[in-house]
Amino acid sequence: MSKVYFRFYEELNDHLPEEMRKVWFEYPLKDRISVQEAISSLGVPPAEVDLILVNQLSKGFDYILQDEDRISVYPVFELFDISEISELREKPLREIRFICDVHLGKLSRYMRMLGFDTLYSNQYTNEQIIQIATEEKRIILSRNCRLIRDKRVTHSYWVRSSDPLEQIRDLVNKLDLSKSIDPLTRCMECNGILVPVDKQQILPQLEPRTANYFNEFFRCNTCAHIYWKGSHFENMLGFIDQHILPDEYDYLNC
Ligand SMILES: [Zn+2]
Repeated sequence: MSKVYFRFYEELNDHLPEEMRKVWFEYPLKDRISVQEAISSLGVPPAEVDLILVNQLSKGFDYILQDEDRISVYPVFELFDISEISELREKPLREIRFICDVHLGKLSRYMRMLGFDTLYSNQYTNEQIIQIATEEKRIILSRNCRLIRDKRVTHSYWVRSSDPLEQIRDLVNKLDLSKSIDPLTRCMECNGILVPVDKQQILPQLEPRTANYFNEFFRCNTCAHIYWKGSHFENMLGFIDQHILPDEYDYLNC
């Protein structure tokens, strides 16, 4: 019988049974089948795949498997730049934007704290999430495998942990986000943009102590929530440094 060989890399292995992880394994070819169909049948969501090498050459999802092919499958966020060789998409998502599923409210706040454009509502249906992600080219962050295996989903990341801090650490690490962090640029409440605002303009809204001690203020351009450079900012930086960034990365000295 015809057969091909698969090898999956990095976190794609999480979807496979133990004996298939990080090793070459045989896949019997019964019918004419595309590489995408084969990958899906193994339980790996195509949306998490960004590069497929067949006998060392980059191929698209519609490639029809041939007897004795050797197929290496890489995840969306391998840390090397695959834009030159990948055939799967016209171009990778350069501008990183996200949409969280309904279970990831806390993660969405952490993402915004780090400055990442991240949509979230506990009212979203899966259909809405897929639609918004497609229209606005957003990466879906989800704990729901069914959602990210939907054929229409092109960019997604399956969030493994149920603990928000572990989730954000894992994301920053796997998606190599630490150098793109830009704190105090986005509202944690609503994802709006923070813009500097003159203290005099917002004086009536400030607690007297805040007004006395701080001078640099920002206001959300969507919900008007006020942030200030001082305790807010320092608390956030301290939190990011202590709890989110990998140990070797010294954010405060950048
Ligand atoms: Zn806001």
